[in-house]
Amino acid sequence: MYTLESAQLLKTVMQEYFDRLDQAPKVAWCTSVGPAELLRSFGFEVYFPENHGALLGATRTATEHIPTAVNCGFSGHICSYTTSDIGAYLGGSSPLRDHYGMKGIPKPDLIVYNTNQCREVQDWFNFYAREFNCPVHGIFPPRHLDEVRPAEIELVVHQFKAMLPFCEAASGQPFDIDRFRETLQLSKEATLLWQKVLKTAANKPAPISFFDGAIHMGPIVVLRGTEVARNYYHTLLQELEGYVADGKGFLPQESCRIFWDGMPIWGKLRYLSDLFAQHQTAVVASTYCNSWIFDDFDEKDPFASSALAYTQIFINRSEKAKMDMLKAWASEYRVDGMIFHDTKTCFNNSNAKFGMPLRFQQETGIPAMVVEGDLNDLRFFSEGQSTTKIETFIEQLESQNVYS
Ligand code: SF4
Repeated sequence: MYTLESAQLLKTVMQEYFDRLDQAPKVAWCTSVGPAELLRSFGFEVYFPENHGALLGATRTATEHIPTAVNCGFSGHICSYTTSDIGAYLGGSSPLRDHYGMKGIPKPDLIVYNTNQCREVQDWFNFYAREFNCPVHGIFPPRHLDEVRPAEIELVVHQFKAMLPFCEAASGQPFDIDRFRETLQLSKEATLLWQKVLKTAANKPAPISFFDGAIHMGPIVVLRGTEVARNYYHTLLQELEGYVADGKGFLPQESCRIFWDGMPIWGKLRYLSDLFAQHQTAVVASTYCNSWIFDDFDEKDPFASSALAYTQIFINRSEKAKMDMLKAWASEYRVDGMIFHDTKTCFNNSNAKFGMPLRFQQETGIPAMVVEGDLNDLRFFSEGQSTTKIETFIEQLESQNVYS
């Protein structure tokens, strides 16, 4: 196994992002698949509470903050990004202070969310709008679509444009279509490079795992629309292409390959990565990392192409559309098995609740299993039970490799 050399650069890139955020004169908060490019075009530095949630999960501090939010009336069964983030805020804690030297979470001048991923973000972000007495704007695209049609795009374009007066008032700058086009172009370049990064794992052996991808996706989430993100993925891609050319994979030997559907279990990323590695099993791709590919961005038509790209993401689609996408990925990455993470506090990003694993297995012949867990609340993850299930599944795969 090797550690990606780009990891050092990644640390610098993320540290500099948080340094800028700490000093920024104007900050907009945005959902992770919200209209970051439009916000950046107004000169805002953009902060993503979901990234903060993931940091709480990865530092394993989330579980201690959730009860604080529960005591303030939030259910312990809703999104644990929301509850751990709000709990940390109420308790005055943040990994941004402890790990990145920031003063704390940045005060917002504008809060924007897009319910393309879930309705939970509306409640989460409105909590902070009340706390900071800050203007808040929501985008509400049609959800669970088989196909995204022109009428839906038109509706979302209208909602994007309705944001402009809020952005102008909060930033003190007039809307500039050319800056929006430039930002979208940069975001497109970064997202296409990120796509190429992920696609290197279609090679056998794969040079990057899902677990590495969950770490290296930081810039495509928080720095979309910047040269920094584009340049970072250029460097990472070069490194990975070098490994592919040399026939090197992140595992010395791959016995089987797995696709991970659903969210990472942030506090168990290392544990799971090591567990699969011990069994020479490469977890090569995921719906999660693929969620930040927006290849429809087009600077010539910035509003319509943003509306299309952000509305047609996997999480916003129907079961039928999701199944088609999963089948295509399974084939592209030549996986022998599929793991569906049944994320207890996020049904939006769990595809295990309405029979999809069984249907997927029946329709493709690729074995599927369900791991029960959560993105941040480790009370929903049993290490012992999950390890036994995963090891049994790997044994099954080794005896009936589909693509090998
Ligand atoms: S998609 Fe899930 S994890 Fe993400 S904010 Fe919504 S409920 Fe939380």
